[in-house]
Amino acid sequence: TGTNKTGPKPKVGPKPKAGPKPKTAGTAGSAGSNSTAKTEESTPETEWDKMAKEKIKGIRGIDENAANQILNEIVLKGDEVHWEDIAGLEQAKTSLKEAVVYPFLRPDLFSGLREPARGMLLFGPPGTGKTMLARAVATESNSTFFAISASSLTSKFLGESEKLVRALFQMARAFAPSIIFVDEIDSLLATRSENGEHEASRRIKNEFLVQWSDLQHAAAGRDNGDDLERVLVLAATNLPWGIDEAARRRFVRRQYIPLPERETRAAHLQKLLSNQKHALTEADFQKLVDLTDGFSGSDMTALAKDAAMGPLRSLGEALLTTPRDQIRPMGIEDFVSSLRTIRPSVSKEGLKAFEDWAALYGSSG
Ligand code: ADP
Repeated sequence: TGTNKTGPKPKVGPKPKAGPKPKTAGTAGSAGSNSTAKTEESTPETEWDKMAKEKIKGIRGIDENAANQILNEIVLKGDEVHWEDIAGLEQAKTSLKEAVVYPFLRPDLFSGLREPARGMLLFGPPGTGKTMLARAVATESNSTFFAISASSLTSKFLGESEKLVRALFQMARAFAPSIIFVDEIDSLLATRSENGEHEASRRIKNEFLVQWSDLQHAAAGRDNGDDLERVLVLAATNLPWGIDEAARRRFVRRQYIPLPERETRAAHLQKLLSNQKHALTEADFQKLVDLTDGFSGSDMTALAKDAAMGPLRSLGEALLTTPRDQIRPMGIEDFVSSLRTIRPSVSKEGLKAFEDWAALYGSSG
């Protein structure tokens, strides 16, 4: 969600970066049998793809075109994210472990009263790590990760969207444990007045809610820790107030992902600078942490990237001939000069809106 994207981001249609990995990282297959499926790229079919296709054949009543499209464009492939990759956000991590990761890894312990939630909402300003958290949850819980942005569901797949939603849930169940991650969920579950509710969007929204309820009923019907249907809808939004009230209530847990605190900014900066030649003293570092009050994680990343260009910019044309080991290290002055153009993407007023919503509707802990 949000702007200033710098890192890897699961959107519809990510192309695999690295080689085949199991579960969250199969490589896009080649048997897309409808016209909208990506045409063959040179990536070879992996064992995971073969297994996935076999599995799809076994799902009763599934629309195979939609299933292949999901396999190619929605099952997340590519770099895995681990908890350590995410700076700070300790409270959110703890809460996600308890709500999702442990129940997925130990379903026998989490039944009956301990039945895990089937929906969790991550909300907060853009660029604060919501997507990264969702990806880490998938990695750490060994789940298949289905990632879709709600706006692409309602635009790109329009016409096919309902079928796609149905197939998405069918597949998530077949590939359980699974996480269905819906970015920009507000655009799928908007209040009626917001978009005058287009007939097509209304149908997609209904289909999504129906499928999601079925999941909740299926979960409630089991009492023996049967782990066949561990599926969670994890959603993210920068506009939590845009979500329909009835839909909002279905997210039993609503986790606020705030702007990073001082310590988190420090940890993030440390991480960003860890592979870079720099001359920042401890005092510079502290000053920088102060100067970035109000910055989101992605603002910090953008700032560090821009500052890293400083030593090259100061060379001018000499850049082309200077040996690598003679490039000067980054210094505080590079950051100070980048701070003139890289500004926080959330205003004070914007932030207050999130805090007010969190106080009203957020889950604590
Ligand atoms: P959101 O989904 O909240 O809009 P993302 O998870 O997509 O934000 O984060 C955008 C980018 O910002 C990430 O790819 C990463 O580079 C950086 N980022 C944001 N928050 C953090 C964090 N807590 N730790 C490390 N990187 C972060």
